[in-house]
Amino acid sequence: MKKKIKTHCGRMDHGGCTLVVEVEDGRVANIGPDPEGPLSHGHICPKARALPELLNHPKRLRRPLRREGRRGSGRWTEISWAEALELAAEGLNRVKDQYGARAVAFCQGAPKGLEHFILIRLANTFGSPNVVGPQNVCHMPREMAGVHTCGFFPVADYENPTRALVVWGSNLTATNEEGVICTRLLRRLKADQAPLVVIDPRRTELAERADLWLPLKPGTDLALALGFLQVIIEEGLTDQDFVKDFTFGFDELARHVREWTPEKTAAVTGLASEDIVKAARIYGRAKPAMIQWGNGIEQTVHNFDAARSLISLMAVAGNLDAPGGNMAPGPPPVMSLRDFVRADLLPERPKAMISAPYGPAPGFVVVAPEYFKQAVLAGRPYPVKAAYVQVSNPVLAWSGSHETYQALKSLDFLVVTETFLSPTAALADLVLPAATQLEYNDLGHFGVAHGFVLARPKIVDPPPDCWPNAKIINELAKKLGLASLWWENYEDMLGDILKPAGLTYAELAEQGLLRGAVRYFKYKEKGFKTPTRKVELVMSTAEKTGLNPLPSWTGPPQPEDPDFPLLLSGHKSRNFFGSDHRYIESLTGREPEPVVEVHPETAQAGGLGDGDLVWVETRTGKIKVRARVTDRIRPGVVSVVHGWWRPSLGAENQASWAETTYNVLTSSSPVNKALGTPNLRALPARLVKADL
Ligand code: SF4
Repeated sequence: MKKKIKTHCGRMDHGGCTLVVEVEDGRVANIGPDPEGPLSHGHICPKARALPELLNHPKRLRRPLRREGRRGSGRWTEISWAEALELAAEGLNRVKDQYGARAVAFCQGAPKGLEHFILIRLANTFGSPNVVGPQNVCHMPREMAGVHTCGFFPVADYENPTRALVVWGSNLTATNEEGVICTRLLRRLKADQAPLVVIDPRRTELAERADLWLPLKPGTDLALALGFLQVIIEEGLTDQDFVKDFTFGFDELARHVREWTPEKTAAVTGLASEDIVKAARIYGRAKPAMIQWGNGIEQTVHNFDAARSLISLMAVAGNLDAPGGNMAPGPPPVMSLRDFVRADLLPERPKAMISAPYGPAPGFVVVAPEYFKQAVLAGRPYPVKAAYVQVSNPVLAWSGSHETYQALKSLDFLVVTETFLSPTAALADLVLPAATQLEYNDLGHFGVAHGFVLARPKIVDPPPDCWPNAKIINELAKKLGLASLWWENYEDMLGDILKPAGLTYAELAEQGLLRGAVRYFKYKEKGFKTPTRKVELVMSTAEKTGLNPLPSWTGPPQPEDPDFPLLLSGHKSRNFFGSDHRYIESLTGREPEPVVEVHPETAQAGGLGDGDLVWVETRTGKIKVRARVTDRIRPGVVSVVHGWWRPSLGAENQASWAETTYNVLTSSSPVNKALGTPNLRALPARLVKADL
């Protein structure tokens, strides 16, 4: 018998689209969009349509696996869950007994649901300060810059009319980053008929629709933001009342950006000076105006200062915490993140983390992968000997893939939970088969600053031995001797999280979405949550933290290199999420190969044609991908699609990723002080035609 059930998408990126799931005989037969979806309004993408294939895929991990032979040998024995939990607990506790709890790291990539925070709770209850993840190149640069500049993470307010929209480093129609579904932006544009400015080295779909596209050189966002500030301040387009009453250090900022004339900004960013002035005026003259800022600005050593300069822009233009500008929706009335992760158990965590000696921005409590690798490979600042990796693939996702491979390979003990065998899982001592979306009750957007949580109710049973990560951790915690800090059953956890809202999970599933209160201009009551109670254009804590008081340009992220005359950037595909989904034939059928985008002028200069196989080379490494000659990218810049590998070559085989994955080209150093961020973009590179 067929039936249709609504839920929210949740594992194929950050999630948020409302799905109509057709179930037949206990299996998902089809996935469709829901025109009434509160965030997606009828949108879904190819990834969600491929879900039935993913759920029923013959290569899915279906039993816990214990490694036999050497690490990465590809020889496994299927074992029971009882044995798997015993082995996991024994391995983690062995390292804890010998080296201390801090020698065990807990790793995850992009948070896609509640499980990320359950992992942090596991680390806290186990006693380790080391939760490791790529937040230093994704989301946290903006959030930490927000905390240290205005006390919150300012997101675009799609709920109110706006007069201008600037999309800065955000390819929303392909990535749905942070669950900001692109339909929200497209509906706002249509309703308001507001001018659209897009800032991106690639002519994205949004750039196609823009009134003005600024194809800046990768890695120059900070310089462009300083140039915008110069125009807005020099032309008197600031909100003078706001500046007078609610900013700290405006005169210093004005002096600081004076040198950033349109001509200087043009010389650094590679843009036309008149376009810079035009774009700055569009933003400065419209009121309100919003900035949809994205991950594109976060992947170089300039990220913290670039994000601070953009918040300064929002502030001096009077668009901060304003309807139709950039604001912070109130959190939904559920258990606080701090209470849920049991931060109280490790009050010394910031000082105990691997990253502590490097002096990151206060409040940044995730260890940068680059520091984790130093701890594993060089014992600096102290040795890390074991890791628990939850549904993520660091070998491909972190900078310097070969180094990451070596680090994971040299651990004493590695546990990985996954849905398919990945190059990272292939290195593990123990692989635990995870259930995925539609297979258990989950909560989306918990702990994310967008002001809501989403119900993602279970639709079908997972394969019998695939467990939700929440259940794996809840049961593992009991085996680790931590039962008093966990729940009898992981479903009870959901009940406790929702208790403050007075809702059961079934009630939330019925209503779908739970929002927090939305209020604007909150600073008028008690000021901003910063030491000066104002927007800190100059950071009042700079001396104490060692961070730049004002956002400062120190030159390109990597010095120019005559042997590598091109600039490398990267982009994400709408068909995949990171390195995920390469097992799904309908998706790889849509996009069968990794590509490097090359402008026709660049291709001609290098003697390259569309479809040629080329080596993309940097000082760190080289990969072989297909050239796509296109005028959608600026001359002199090449962009490689992120996260590519070929499961057909065997996850345990380095050949499955070593010639195709972007992070072979990147390096784990240098990194910046604020967040430990390396340069993933704006790397000097060259293209060399490859033999077939
Ligand atoms: S855009 Fe993201 S949330 Fe929407 S259907 Fe696709 S994967 Fe799911």
